[in-house]
Amino acid sequence: MSITAQSVWNNCLNFIQDNIQPQAYKTWFEPIVAVKLSDNALSVQVPSKFFYEWLEEHYVKILKVALRKELGENAKLVYIIKMENTYGNKQPFTERIPSSNRSAVKSQDIDVPLNNKNPQLRNPFVIPGIRNVKIDSQLNPNYNFENFLEGDSNRLARSAGLAVSAKPGGTSFNPLLIFGGVGLGKTHLAHAIGVDIKDKYPEKTVLYISAEKFTQQYIDSVKKNNRNDFIHFYQLIDVLVIDDVQFLSGKSGTQDVFFHIFNHLHQNGKQVILTSDKAPVDMQDIEQRLLSRFKWGLSAELQTPDFETRVSILKNKLYRDGVEMPDDIIEYVAKHIKSNIRELEGAIISLIAQSSFNKKEINIELAKQVVEKFVKNTKREVSIDYIQKIVSDYFQMDVDTLQSKTRKRHIVQARQLAMFFAKKLTKASLASIGSQIGKRDHATVLHACKTVDNLSATDKQFKKYVEDLTKKLSV
Ligand code: ADP
Ligand code: MG
Repeated sequence: MSITAQSVWNNCLNFIQDNIQPQAYKTWFEPIVAVKLSDNALSVQVPSKFFYEWLEEHYVKILKVALRKELGENAKLVYIIKMENTYGNKQPFTERIPSSNRSAVKSQDIDVPLNNKNPQLRNPFVIPGIRNVKIDSQLNPNYNFENFLEGDSNRLARSAGLAVSAKPGGTSFNPLLIFGGVGLGKTHLAHAIGVDIKDKYPEKTVLYISAEKFTQQYIDSVKKNNRNDFIHFYQLIDVLVIDDVQFLSGKSGTQDVFFHIFNHLHQNGKQVILTSDKAPVDMQDIEQRLLSRFKWGLSAELQTPDFETRVSILKNKLYRDGVEMPDDIIEYVAKHIKSNIRELEGAIISLIAQSSFNKKEINIELAKQVVEKFVKNTKREVSIDYIQKIVSDYFQMDVDTLQSKTRKRHIVQARQLAMFFAKKLTKASLASIGSQIGKRDHATVLHACKTVDNLSATDKQFKKYVEDLTKKLSV
């Protein structure tokens, strides 16, 4: 086989994939296209300048090693940066429909209930003005970049957020999807991006809204027969932030309307920022066409912060509140509350409150009591290994059998049940469940979950399995 840019790059990718986190690989290496090979220089195309800078900053070493393995000591890597913002070039992203036109469009609408004559009042976020219709951004200025501390766990999402706020609609991160578990800073970061954009581009219309509120508004608009106004309103936004899009799952009407709004905004070079508690591959009951759009831009994960980051978040919070606390207490709290920044802050606040109400000094004893309450309240999560063990025991087989490639019905069912419970009882992604239960892919896990749902609705014996196992696995 002759050596081509593609074959060289594929070998590099294989090596890189084995050496970095899957999410990082997906984000930073899958989008790269090998373009040209001449002598010992490989040219690759990257989606943006930010992308190139990120690769240089974080992956230059591994790229060097990989490429030298393929092309020898004198190997060179040449980046080609793809033109950004192809949509925006068609129509500058600063262009907006003048507000006078907006009212004009609305007044044309004849089908308006009498008490709703004033078009400016029909949109939930429109504050009637004399000459201009202004949209309140609903942003919380207390959630900004300055107090969103950086750590390994959020570096990618935070930098991507900064890149977006420097050039809303003008980067390849459109939409920017921020995902991660509860209390890890999704809402804070989403606001911070909006706040920063408002600061840099005061003329832009920015709107923050939770997916839940968006859904409610949509339902209301259907009831009041002004669905078009609803759509029209959202199409005027320059930067739309929708928080917790997982809330849209199963709501096909709202998904449909959001799909149209999204397309309109995206095609006009407007920025969309989304947050979700799951990665796109793990979102269920979201239409495929919408999911595929979520993946157009960048999905950046907020992971659980490491110890150092937890300590600096706490110190920063105390500093801002003007409270002093000994280092050993801060470290004690940071050491014991790991998986949720909101709880971390909650524990510190409760500690301060306890000490001032009871006029007690803040000491390790008090810290222990407070932390214990927080840790107890967070439900213990069972592990996937534990689930596999319980399910195998129940069907009197060993874990290796459960994981094996066999298609024997009772083994397949046991495996599907293990996958179903792993999805239900842990926070692991479909992909990670699959890889831990016999190295299957995420689609297999999704299929297993659906099969278990179906079978337990139709098959009595199977339903009993689910009930028995639920009892055994409850903690
Ligand atoms: P989520 O939306 O992911 O559930 P939030 O954005 O509501 O989480 O964050 C929970 C709390 O943690 C908020 O008070 C937020 O200010 C704080 N927080 C999260 N990440 C950081 C960070 N990197 N630096 C400082 N505070 C943070
Ligand atoms: Mg939130």
